[in-house]
Amino acid sequence: MKLQEIKNIDVAGKKVFIRCDFNVPVDEYQNITDDRRITSALNTIRYCIDNDCAIILASHFGRPKGTGHEDEYSLKPVAKRLHTLLKTDIIMAKGIVDEETMSMAKELKSGQIMLLENLRFEKGETKNDADFSAKLASMAEVFINDAFGVSHRAHASVEGIAKHFDINSKAAGFLLAKEIEFFHHIVHNPKRPFVSIVGGSKVSGKLEALYNLVPKVDKILIGGGMAFTFLKALGEEVGNSLVEDDLIPEALKIMEEAKKLGVKLYLPVDVIAAEAFNSEAFAKVVASKEIPTGWMGLDIGPASCMLFEEALADAHTILWNGPMGVYEMDKFAKGSFKISHAVAKSYATTVVGGGDTADLIRMTGDEEDMTFISTGGGASLELIEGKVLPGVKALVIE
Ligand code: AMP
Repeated sequence: MKLQEIKNIDVAGKKVFIRCDFNVPVDEYQNITDDRRITSALNTIRYCIDNDCAIILASHFGRPKGTGHEDEYSLKPVAKRLHTLLKTDIIMAKGIVDEETMSMAKELKSGQIMLLENLRFEKGETKNDADFSAKLASMAEVFINDAFGVSHRAHASVEGIAKHFDINSKAAGFLLAKEIEFFHHIVHNPKRPFVSIVGGSKVSGKLEALYNLVPKVDKILIGGGMAFTFLKALGEEVGNSLVEDDLIPEALKIMEEAKKLGVKLYLPVDVIAAEAFNSEAFAKVVASKEIPTGWMGLDIGPASCMLFEEALADAHTILWNGPMGVYEMDKFAKGSFKISHAVAKSYATTVVGGGDTADLIRMTGDEEDMTFISTGGGASLELIEGKVLPGVKALVIE
């Protein structure tokens, strides 16, 4: 699979529409609390500035109702932050494809940057409405997708719009290209031993990814809430831990498949069990085989950390998606922190995917020591599942 990349098409002096992912977290006063999704898009924007483009930026933000403007979900704070980061004026549009915005886009000159309002103010965005995507496309001569985080969605500004541009007038931005390259390489051509760590809450969210990973990896380490469905499938008593009973047959199938292929599958041998799901609850370390009735496992225990660290020691490639426990509560964060440090310490190529895991790595301070931290949770999972993302398909050359 070869992606059309921005550096291989002619953008010089052209009007360029860049689909970004500016869906940043904000506090109750609309202050941006983490601007990494904005800074990640700067390479592509700066490249277009240097190439004298007239630049139209577009993104979704939060979950508005799709029935028009809602102040709470306006992209104005993003425009301000872009202004601070780029040290240039950002023209904030009042709408998206209304007459005034369309004529502003038409008048936009080389070197100017305009930010459209939240794409999801229009219900046509998530419905991939043909009229809406045609209007968006009509604003520019070139379409750039740099929004990895939504490229698994067939939305108007991601998928529909791309149909209006030929392959020499559309491309992946630097961020999207980098994300795809890392995941493609790691899934199709990893340096071995290839170890995958999978955690998070449920098996159901990662079932496809697990099925796709097992034939590709040498080892798979399963932690987090999902481990309990596997432990229960093996006949363990897991108390009130998170279990998806209906997926026990799937968990068994995954373990059988791993055995058949010679893939080593590791489960926690001990856990931090608590009497209730809260940070004040009484908690203790117990063997996975000895979780008391009514208690729940909320983190992997110290022996599991040692076991997982040893399993990681000879890895040349590590792919990590999903925390090892309820890392949001200090009491149940230790397992995830230890595994984060172990991954960071390793000399392997380390790729971290998933919003929660990226959030965790920020808390552990190991960001700098990871090879690559993906900006997209759902999108990176779908890549691991072996899918071609709708927003990427439109940009594939061969
Ligand atoms: P996911 O979105 O599936 O990656 O799940 C991330 C969430 O899983 C985090 O919010 C964690 O708090 C949660 N989680 C991790 N381990 C457990 C556990 N043992 N029990 C319940 N929730 C967990």
